[in-house]
Amino acid sequence: MTLFAISVFILLGFIYWATAGYMAEQTDETIEAEIVGLAEQYQRQGVNGLISVIRERVARDPNGKSLYLFTARDYIKLAGNLEQWPTEVQPSDGWFNFPLDSTLGWHGDPHIARARVFVVPGGLQLLVGRDVYDLMAVKKLIERAINWGMGITLALALFGGIMMSRSTARRIEVINQISQKIMNGNLALRIPARGTGDDFDQLANNLNQMLDRIVQLMEGIRHVSDNIAHDLRTPLTRLRNRLEATLISVGPEHRDNVADAVAEADQLLSTFNALLRIARLETGGKVVNPVQIDLSQLVYDAAELYEALAEDKHQRLNLNVEDGLQVCGDKDLLFQTLSNLLDNAIKYTPEEGIIDLSLVRQDQFVMLSVADSGIGIPDEDKEKVFQRFYRVAKSRSLPGNGLGLSLVGAVVAMHKGRIELSDNQPGLRVNLYLPAVSRKQGMPAAEQPRRLPSKG
Ligand code: ADP
Repeated sequence: MTLFAISVFILLGFIYWATAGYMAEQTDETIEAEIVGLAEQYQRQGVNGLISVIRERVARDPNGKSLYLFTARDYIKLAGNLEQWPTEVQPSDGWFNFPLDSTLGWHGDPHIARARVFVVPGGLQLLVGRDVYDLMAVKKLIERAINWGMGITLALALFGGIMMSRSTARRIEVINQISQKIMNGNLALRIPARGTGDDFDQLANNLNQMLDRIVQLMEGIRHVSDNIAHDLRTPLTRLRNRLEATLISVGPEHRDNVADAVAEADQLLSTFNALLRIARLETGGKVVNPVQIDLSQLVYDAAELYEALAEDKHQRLNLNVEDGLQVCGDKDLLFQTLSNLLDNAIKYTPEEGIIDLSLVRQDQFVMLSVADSGIGIPDEDKEKVFQRFYRVAKSRSLPGNGLGLSLVGAVVAMHKGRIELSDNQPGLRVNLYLPAVSRKQGMPAAEQPRRLPSKG
């Protein structure tokens, strides 16, 4: 705005200088020329000659554009179209401006005049001037135009500046907001382009391509780990079975070692299975055969199963379950999810801790919440624990493979729910929201028998 205003100011200033300045110069030159002419007359014809030339000129200019006053000592008029010597004008060489009004014997409207004095030897003085009303009028006109021009320019520049910076700020804001969401884990989002091909569009395209590349690389890494799990599962199973077979034939001194090896192979196999299961759930994206499930009952069942584990650690497991809350989905996977959350709560809460398990209806959702008084998860790790194999540093000494919450995340996503981790001060609170269904909606009900969970 400032730059624009300065440019316009310079431009208008130049126009002012070029027009009004030129006109003032012209006026001065005309006066100068008249003085030179009259001085010549004086030289040639003396005072009387000068008087008659002045009279002649006054007679030729009835409108009084040119002003003359030739006075003797004490300003006594000898000739000219003014009656009085203006008080503003000194009887010495030089330029003067003075008001032209009736006190000087002027018959028209009061104007401004400009004059030059020519001192004639012998105490006489000659004033030659011009009515500069037109010049002043033009000057005023240009000044007014400059004032208006500047005002309008400032208003337009301010408006234009605000609009431009607003639209720029808005586009940057969009990029900022979307990048924030992407950083929060929504990698599928992309920055919209306007299609104008401007710098912002190019920036958006570059960022989007960068994101595509990142997603591609991440997918690649995930595939590699899933493929490793897939390819190693069969030889590992064979190895485990052979070890188990060996267990029968080895002597008692090796039996413990072989049994440990079998347990470790089991652990490895369960990790591989969990990995493959997550991969399958994520590629499937939705529940294959959804059935209506009484989630309240499922929560009771899971609590019953984990009560003993909690008791072993002298932990209190509090239940607050609204009856008859229904959801639609895969019963085994939801039970697995509950088991993983409870297993974590018990594992990461020290002895004598408290675990609150609640299930309530919240608008269109059923909210399951597992809150413990354990070590909790620092804010910067709350998103990361849903990644495969991610374990928070302080809990790495405890058993686990870092796949439990990845599975929970995949199950929640395929059930169109959402999961939130927050601080329970102390401990962790996991809130899980699943879309609720009413009993009447007529989904096929889940069959009763269910296999026992194994984590992951
Ligand atoms: P793990 O087999 O290690 O328990 P999970 O995927 O279930 O794997 O959890 C990932 C990480 O999240 C854990 O290693 C732990 O650091 C953290 N975590 C999960 N649940 C809790 C909890 N209730 N309290 C504290 N930390 C937790």
